[in-house]
Amino acid sequence: MMEETMLDKALVRLEEAARHLNIDSDVLEKLKYPRETIKARLMIRMDDGSRKSFMAWRCRYDDTRGPTKGGIRFHPDVTAEEVETLAFWMTIKCAVTNLPYGGGKGGVRVDPRSLSRSEIERLSRAYVQAFARVIGPDRDIPAPDVYTNAMIMGWMADEYSTLMGESMPAVVTGKPIALGGSLGRNDATARGGYYLLNHLRDELKLEKGGRVVVQGFGNAGQYIAELMAQDGYRVVAVSDTGGAILNDDGLNVAELIALKKNGKSVVDLAGQNGTIKISTDELLAVPSDVLVPAAMEDLIHKGNAASIRTRVILELANGPITAEADTILNAAGVIILPDILANAGGVTVSYFEWVQNKQGFYWTVEEIHERLRRIMEAEGKLIWDLAKEQNIPVRTAAYVHALGRLAEAIEAHGTQA
Ligand code: GLU
Repeated sequence: MMEETMLDKALVRLEEAARHLNIDSDVLEKLKYPRETIKARLMIRMDDGSRKSFMAWRCRYDDTRGPTKGGIRFHPDVTAEEVETLAFWMTIKCAVTNLPYGGGKGGVRVDPRSLSRSEIERLSRAYVQAFARVIGPDRDIPAPDVYTNAMIMGWMADEYSTLMGESMPAVVTGKPIALGGSLGRNDATARGGYYLLNHLRDELKLEKGGRVVVQGFGNAGQYIAELMAQDGYRVVAVSDTGGAILNDDGLNVAELIALKKNGKSVVDLAGQNGTIKISTDELLAVPSDVLVPAAMEDLIHKGNAASIRTRVILELANGPITAEADTILNAAGVIILPDILANAGGVTVSYFEWVQNKQGFYWTVEEIHERLRRIMEAEGKLIWDLAKEQNIPVRTAAYVHALGRLAEAIEAHGTQA
């Protein structure tokens, strides 16, 4: 028997959701495979004069509901399969929040920490040159993801505009404000998750002073820690690639963020004011009210799921819990607010950015926050109620919610194709 791929594993959740809906088999057949995955080898000139090549992909998973949308990840372990799985999740995520998009994703197999700023710029431009025929403001719209940021999106938008001979900011989202980026995009992933959590606060029995653990202290991790701390929660443990720290009285989040800005690790705070260094495995077992995975896939698996001591998991990362771990956590009564809902704030504000670029009229940060809040609360509540009504996990309810919208669009496109 062939080994199960990462995408096969992700599709388990879709098949599970399909059992709760009366949908045509055509719908599942369409959503089971990516529409297209393009691969290219990017060649760039290094600062020392040598040339180096990097493998890169862009997947347009499904465009039934609109142009494909999703980030580009720069990571040394990226694979085609991972890009396709992430593009599948984008398809579902955009349907969850009812954005007029399909799902896509891109990746470059590179450790960006080993490149200089100008090498990263050349790599970003090479990516756009290689995939210029695939991307486009009404075709496929990239954005930031793991280890990519506004600066990189700016270079990409600039390269595309240069190639096309006209200003085309709507081709990429997550750009710097000066290049048509939206206010409120930086903290959008965390803020969306925070609005969701806050709206369900009573149902989740969350109280001020509640303990929060954040795994991964990058963009999403830092902002969620900040928003939760400002709201009176106690952020007791955090981690990054350098390790993890714990302080039962609560960590000083502002200090941690300042540390990260200086290129340091959170563990550099260990030893001060009762903060201790712990292992990443220990971090997951720290008792908390809310655990926020904010880094990579497959963090919580069948081998460590039983050690989790939390009540609510807010998935700001994509795919941080395997299907087997889900079963263990569900049985233990842990409530999981799933990635396709919990981290949809990022792509939602990307959508606002795209709309603003297309209309050439820009909104205030208050308008952005308000629109984001309304979407997260409305979709979140519908999914929460569905979960209660059908007595199914919130993840399954989110898939059911999205699948209903996708099925409607697939059928509306016609059945003869
Ligand atoms: N990379 C983010 C995600 O996984 C944002 C995608 C976007 O803004 O298009 O949702």
